[in-house]
Amino acid sequence: ARWNRTEGWHGATVEPYRPIELDPAAMVLHYGQAIFEGLKAYRHADGSIQSFRPEANADRFRRSSRRLAMPELPDELFLGSLRELVAVDGHWVPEQDEESLYLRPFMISTEVGLGVRPAAEYLYVLIASPAGSYFASGVRPVSVWLSTEYVRAAPGGTGAAKFAGNYAASLVAQAQAAEQGCDQVVWLDAVERRWVEEMGGMNLFFVLGSGADARVVTPELSGSLLAGITRDSLLTLAAELGYQVEERRVSTEEWEKKVESGELSEVFACGTAAVITPVGSVKHAEGSFTINGGNPGTVSMRMRDALTAIQRGTAPDTHGWMTRLS
Ligand code: PMP
Repeated sequence: ARWNRTEGWHGATVEPYRPIELDPAAMVLHYGQAIFEGLKAYRHADGSIQSFRPEANADRFRRSSRRLAMPELPDELFLGSLRELVAVDGHWVPEQDEESLYLRPFMISTEVGLGVRPAAEYLYVLIASPAGSYFASGVRPVSVWLSTEYVRAAPGGTGAAKFAGNYAASLVAQAQAAEQGCDQVVWLDAVERRWVEEMGGMNLFFVLGSGADARVVTPELSGSLLAGITRDSLLTLAAELGYQVEERRVSTEEWEKKVESGELSEVFACGTAAVITPVGSVKHAEGSFTINGGNPGTVSMRMRDALTAIQRGTAPDTHGWMTRLS
């Protein structure tokens, strides 16, 4: 679908996958107005294709567009595009295995012009791709690098939006993490480089205490981290599973000290792609430490099982989180 000031959103079509033609002076190529979303559709045992909380993605897409001075896409168009694409491409979601259909909606500015201002023309596109299981050979904890040299987002910046530039800015730190032998970057706050924000494309959770006294802690929404839909869902599920839940600041000192003292038993990251990924080891400029002997923890795996069962349709959807697309 396209947007301009006189017609608003118009011209939505479903077309075979093909390259997009852009003028070399299209504003997105110069000033970067580009936002996106990521969500998955699953086939349930009754043959239906269901997606997990797409209304929340539509909402976040709208918030991203406001931050980037882009037009808002109405929910009917966002959700309607998912339904229409699945109607033609839904055969890609097979039954009874770990595969899903990854859906990638995005919006870019297409107006031709070299002045720096919000563009007057935009293109919204949805593409889809079958996605295999993230952990085809079993859940493997990741190693993380605490980045103090680079920051992903600053107060007042674009960190709370799913904005393409945030990911471009993260690539050099991701390369640094790889040089350090780590899988992922953990981002800290821009001001003190001390408060944990998030990990690459996932939010972080810490498990303090154990057994019936376990507390599940996640960094509060600071304005510079992305409000993950998995994060939000896990906060609800953790409380239902009987854990105390806290949204608050977590410092890197607290993280390391409480792992040393044994109070912090598990850390995991969460997001649409991998659902839950345990964090097995941490490296920073001054040293490194492991968590739970580098193994997935019981709280992490219990939360993972609870959420994937809802997504796969093998547990009741008591929150109305699944939306039927076809
Ligand atoms: N943080 C960032 C930077 C991300 O790109 C993502 C993936 N969308 C997340 C967190 C997790 O969000 P969600 O649970 O909605 O996938």
